[in-house]
Amino acid sequence: MKDNEKNKKRYYHSVRLKEDDCKGCTHCIRTCPTQAIRVYDGKATIIEERCIDCGECIRTCPNFAKYAHTDSLDMLNDFKYTVALPAPSFMAQFDPDDIPLDKVYTALNLMGFEYIFEVAAAAELVNKATEKFMQENKKRPVISSACPAVVRLILTRFPEYAEYIAPLEPPMDIAAKISKDMVMKKTGCNEKEVGVFFISPCPAKVTAVNQPEGKKKSPVDGVFSMTDVFDAVMSRIQEIKETKNYEHAGKYGIIWGVHEGEIRNVHVEKKIAVAGIHNIISFFENVDDKEFSSYEFIEVQACIPGCVGGVLAPTDKFMAKTRLKRLAGRMKESTVKREKVFEDYDMKFFIMEFFNEGRKLQPRSINRLDTDIEKAMEKAEKIDVLMKEFPGIDCGICGCPTCETLAEDVVQGKASKFDCIFVLKEKIKNIKEELGDISSGKRIKDENK
Ligand code: SF4
Ligand code: SF4
Repeated sequence: MKDNEKNKKRYYHSVRLKEDDCKGCTHCIRTCPTQAIRVYDGKATIIEERCIDCGECIRTCPNFAKYAHTDSLDMLNDFKYTVALPAPSFMAQFDPDDIPLDKVYTALNLMGFEYIFEVAAAAELVNKATEKFMQENKKRPVISSACPAVVRLILTRFPEYAEYIAPLEPPMDIAAKISKDMVMKKTGCNEKEVGVFFISPCPAKVTAVNQPEGKKKSPVDGVFSMTDVFDAVMSRIQEIKETKNYEHAGKYGIIWGVHEGEIRNVHVEKKIAVAGIHNIISFFENVDDKEFSSYEFIEVQACIPGCVGGVLAPTDKFMAKTRLKRLAGRMKESTVKREKVFEDYDMKFFIMEFFNEGRKLQPRSINRLDTDIEKAMEKAEKIDVLMKEFPGIDCGICGCPTCETLAEDVVQGKASKFDCIFVLKEKIKNIKEELGDISSGKRIKDENK
């Protein structure tokens, strides 16, 4: 209990539980990639330091008891000037032959966004910055830092790979910094008067804004759910009589919203793209050192087939993927004046604050049994003993994802070994036998021998 209270202060999480709706069915414990969920006393709880806000439990909960906390659209009233940052996956929510992008953006203006800055434009710049970074730094492979769920997965479950994560700002943050600068220059206002809002396909981005890795504060002021914004846009589409014209990002930025989008414009020979949080786990568990170091660049996205499959995106992910590809195919290669941007901002602008300060991303130690080594060893021994009692079939009936996680919880005083139905049955059987012996007088006779 104390641990949880402490961790609540340490970690922000977008993914939360509606306790009243949780039926304790244990569906979610099996799909959580970081074994962050337990079901005790008929209710799920999320272990703060393990959760990476991937949203898998939102997808799988049959009772809709998990949800992603996002900002209210009312936040638009808190700033003098507002900027919408639509993710590339947002563009895929509308059929371009039915509702053209310019009509969607006109609706965003009607909603109260004064400016629109496509994150896809920043993605093009990040592609360029990645190439520059790889020319200047020879350490390989470089793992993309664009998906915050995967960055947290690596820091949580695969800390040995943390040093390979690109120290580059993700496109969302670059878009926020550039657009804020642009509005300030254009209007002469100060930073606090500009509100920059990301339209997000996933809870991981909400967490990345509220508790960013690699910097103290995010340049994004708020994160709206893609579904909320989609609904608001659709409710205004009919009233649009005249559509404005907007400048759009190029195809290489737009295609970032789907699997293999980012690597398409990273010009190295040995590159690989892995999508899906469980596929990524399997990749890191199975790749050997030789294979791993043979890659130059690794794209990793927690969702299938890329961000269009994020849990907050309302449109079917495969329809969205097809739309985005169609849209990208119609765009020019690049409409962003890249060289101009690189004149205005040097490479430091694209590097995460911690790396510019000589610091690094900090892996999370989630498996530490105790800070005292002797006590940790004692606990490890107790776990070994318990594992011999448990059946090892990871049935989940106890409320833990595996027998090993139950054993860990028992030694940490968070669970009882009798939460295991098999251990409990054995205990009941023994008690019955003892009672039988007593009632038949066998035990008394034996004891008198
Ligand atoms: S959001 Fe992901 S990591 Fe967090 S509890 Fe749900 S499934 Fe587990
Ligand atoms: S792949 Fe994209 S949508 Fe999915 S968690 Fe990562 S950033 Fe979010």
